[in-house]
Amino acid sequence: MAFLEIKNLKVNHHTFEGTKNVLDIESIKIEKGTTYGIVGESGYGKTVLALTILKLLQCPPGEIEKGEILLEGENILNKKQKYLEREIRGKKIAMIFQDPMSTLNPVFTVGYQIVQVIKKNKNINEKEAEKEAVKVLEIVKLADPENIMKKYPHQLSGGQRQRIIIALALSCGAELLIADEPTRNLDVTIQASILKLLKELQEKFNMTVLFIANNLSLVSAFCDNIGILYKGKIIEQGRTSEIIDSPKEHYTKQLIEAVKSKKKRTEQINDNEVILEVKNLKKYFEVKNELSKKKVLKLKAVDDVSFELRKGEVLGIVGESGCGKSTLVNTILKLFEPTGGKVIFEGEDIYSLDKKSIRNIRKDIQIVFQDPYWSLNPRWLVKDIISEPIDVHEHLNSIEKLERVDALLKMVGLKEDAAFKYPHEFSGGERQRIAIARSLASEPKLVILDEPTSSIDVFSQAQILELLRNLKDKFELTNILISHDLGVVNQMSNKIAVMYLGKIVEFGTADKIFEFPQHPYTKALFNSIPKLGKEGIESLVTLEGNIPSPINPPSGCSFHTRCKNATEECKKRKPAITYLDKEHYVSCLLFEEGHNA
Ligand code: SF4
Repeated sequence: MAFLEIKNLKVNHHTFEGTKNVLDIESIKIEKGTTYGIVGESGYGKTVLALTILKLLQCPPGEIEKGEILLEGENILNKKQKYLEREIRGKKIAMIFQDPMSTLNPVFTVGYQIVQVIKKNKNINEKEAEKEAVKVLEIVKLADPENIMKKYPHQLSGGQRQRIIIALALSCGAELLIADEPTRNLDVTIQASILKLLKELQEKFNMTVLFIANNLSLVSAFCDNIGILYKGKIIEQGRTSEIIDSPKEHYTKQLIEAVKSKKKRTEQINDNEVILEVKNLKKYFEVKNELSKKKVLKLKAVDDVSFELRKGEVLGIVGESGCGKSTLVNTILKLFEPTGGKVIFEGEDIYSLDKKSIRNIRKDIQIVFQDPYWSLNPRWLVKDIISEPIDVHEHLNSIEKLERVDALLKMVGLKEDAAFKYPHEFSGGERQRIAIARSLASEPKLVILDEPTSSIDVFSQAQILELLRNLKDKFELTNILISHDLGVVNQMSNKIAVMYLGKIVEFGTADKIFEFPQHPYTKALFNSIPKLGKEGIESLVTLEGNIPSPINPPSGCSFHTRCKNATEECKKRKPAITYLDKEHYVSCLLFEEGHNA
């Protein structure tokens, strides 16, 4: 008998437009102690399935039409909510949601929240529950658990919060863990350590895991078996290696192809003229010292960054959250007032120009933001959103403007009638197309792409990347691409800047950096990503510790607190830039002549 079995499950969703079938699963069997991954795009029913298993699906508008969910042979769907609360949720089945911030209550300390769960499920007193809570925080490897217990969710980092959620899930000894995109919003380095922790705990406690994600590489590295979910149906399932090596269904083949196409397409560096030169750029923010209100501290978000970009090149900027990627591009655009340094665009020093000239330059430099749900004004029609930059920079009449909007919509693959719709009428991928159309409206020369695919699913991602490449070639654009997805950066860029704590620690051609990364941080970053069809989670390299605060960066090399190669000298001396060849430099003592590191 399988530990969890789903049989002929049919779930519907009632809307004003009628009833829509969202899940139609014939059979899924998960054996005890194994890991089963469900891969599928957003909107194909992954989360509905997880909620149905816990009988947490809101009905109505949801409706479980028929089917069975058997946990050790017992049909959960027949059970009363009271029974599920008392016997199943937490004790037998626990769930890790994708967003720890919305799972944790912001007004209670994390310790209080764990203690309440333990007390309720184990029927023990406060003191005993506290001891158990500390134990479970130790299990999820949170340093200084007694202190962590006293913290509120907002006082913890994303990785720490996700460990708290895992601790909550483990606190009552659940045998089945449902992990719904547990690392979706985390950096690759934190993702690797969370995945390793989950794997370790799964093996230690012989837990059964249902892992849900839209990232095939991640699921395949974690799970023994996978099921491909397509429009609510499991169209193919089996051993992970068999599915990856010999997929049968067209959709599965496409999914695998979408991941593989993120491999580098070779592209030569050109010798065009330099379009953008960034020289010793600094952006410091002033922050009040909470202890002595008067003292003002400096947060060095961008600290002495220099690089050159030639016409037609794509510079990929990578690094963990908080390393200064977005501040760098916002400072280049002068959306933030720079603290020091120069930005020279087509021979003109942007910072020495008056307001009117800067506005003219902004016509040539545009930005596409990461979240098309927030970057488009929900009250405006698409035609007004796209034509906004035209209104600022040109004087076209309404017919000419509409013609330009139609042409732009066509260019990004949207139908003409999109002009008279509102953003909420589009999917994530379509909204990002609208944002791209808007960025091209003023016919720019440099387009900055800030995480352009991070909030859309894998297929839309592949299509958006293809579109960006075509537009780049068509308009001879130069791009700066910020992404935490190194696959995307590899596919799109021909130069890479790796940032850590406001500084570029390695810079070079994409081929060199991806094939022969030199800086210990670059190596750690690249080795923390699960690769399709490669060894499991165990082989991932984890970078321990959080990125230090840029208000009080470590002495010497700012990476020394997390670097495996760090020596005493690294704590004292700041590394200079060492050129490995004309296009490739690193900032690490290991590469300096006569170093003692
Ligand atoms: Fe690591 Fe030292 Fe190099 Fe910094 S200078 S990256 S701490 S080896």
